[in-house]
Amino acid sequence: MNTKEKDSKYIMHTYGRYNVALKSGKGAAAFDEDGKRYIDVSSGIGVNSLGYCDEGWVNAITAQANTVQHVSNYFYNEQPSNLAEKLCTLTGLSKACFGNSGAEANECAIKVARKYSFDRYGEGRNVILTLKNSFHGRTVTTLSATGQDVFHNFFFPFTEGFKYAEANNLDDVKNNIDEKVCAVMIEVVQGEGGVVILDKEFVQGVARICKASDILLIIDEVQTGIGRTGKLFAYQHYGVKPDLVTMAKGLGGGLPIGVCLCGEKLDSVMSPSTHGTTFGANPVVCAGANYVIDKISDEAFLNAVEEKGAYLEKKLLALDEVKSVNRLGLMVGIEIDGDAHDMAEKCVANGLLIITAKALLRMLPPLTITAEELDEAVTILEKTLKENTK
Ligand SMILES: *Cc1c(COP(=O)(O)O)cnc(C)c1O
Repeated sequence: MNTKEKDSKYIMHTYGRYNVALKSGKGAAAFDEDGKRYIDVSSGIGVNSLGYCDEGWVNAITAQANTVQHVSNYFYNEQPSNLAEKLCTLTGLSKACFGNSGAEANECAIKVARKYSFDRYGEGRNVILTLKNSFHGRTVTTLSATGQDVFHNFFFPFTEGFKYAEANNLDDVKNNIDEKVCAVMIEVVQGEGGVVILDKEFVQGVARICKASDILLIIDEVQTGIGRTGKLFAYQHYGVKPDLVTMAKGLGGGLPIGVCLCGEKLDSVMSPSTHGTTFGANPVVCAGANYVIDKISDEAFLNAVEEKGAYLEKKLLALDEVKSVNRLGLMVGIEIDGDAHDMAEKCVANGLLIITAKALLRMLPPLTITAEELDEAVTILEKTLKENTK
């Protein structure tokens, strides 16, 4: 059996896969099992932030694997300590909690928010308001947090205590706030929802409403964080100060990690045995993340992300077949005529690894992608669009 046949036989069919078995990669180029080369503007859904097999990153994780690969959370280790220090220093937030995925980081934020409210106000003030069209993960609780009916199926009963307001509608947020609400959780750019960039007035309005009633503001930066939008975190475009920030995808540079950061007000909410995970804070993963953060937090690196994004947007808008582009940094949604998923499959066949978000094509290229590689990506996209649109 080949890879595809084995996958079909032995792996649960929770994903519709493209017809490609990826074998290796370097920078923004990926290679399949037959050695065919692809330009990858998906970077594993924004995970391979420095591209495939960045030399410094490989050295960092290899060195750590040769030193100690895992210590339990009952012991100290320099890698997570250093990473937490960097993340707190760079954001002005106060403490980190480590996990292994975006959903887990959000679970942690939800637990911290509810415990803060329980400690301070007692039982019953536990509702978390999220936005319609949001995406916060696949665990039973983060599915509840996700404000899309299609996700609220099959797996009943879902976790109680979530309400949903319309994005960019401050009145709807106000109408949903009552004495039971302890937190509001938002993505400032809804990634899975179709690269929907929230209005500045809306996000600032939500922050104001939260502050007035000691309601915690949780920003889900799982997709938008770690330089993706041209700032270290996307909320930094909005001039707000969240109480909790979650991150995951791009942070490990390709290894699984999720982090929940909290501000000073919350830094003593969690105590021993209120939360934990066996694999969280893994030294090899944190060594990779330390390398990624050192690279990406550089001002010039972040400015280059925005410059590349602007360059890409201009080239995309010059294509007749492109109707519009939603973009912040290198987080890009592309509106086309016709079915985006079908077009994505055709792009892949033509050598461009691209994904979709709702009805849009979506690009989340490695942040290190070069102008030549972006040119190559747009050329393949253009060719594919021309072949398939009348
Ligand atoms: C991907 C994503 C998640 C879930 O992350 P996992 O690592 O898949 O659990 C949560 N929130 C947002 C905004 C995401 O894009």
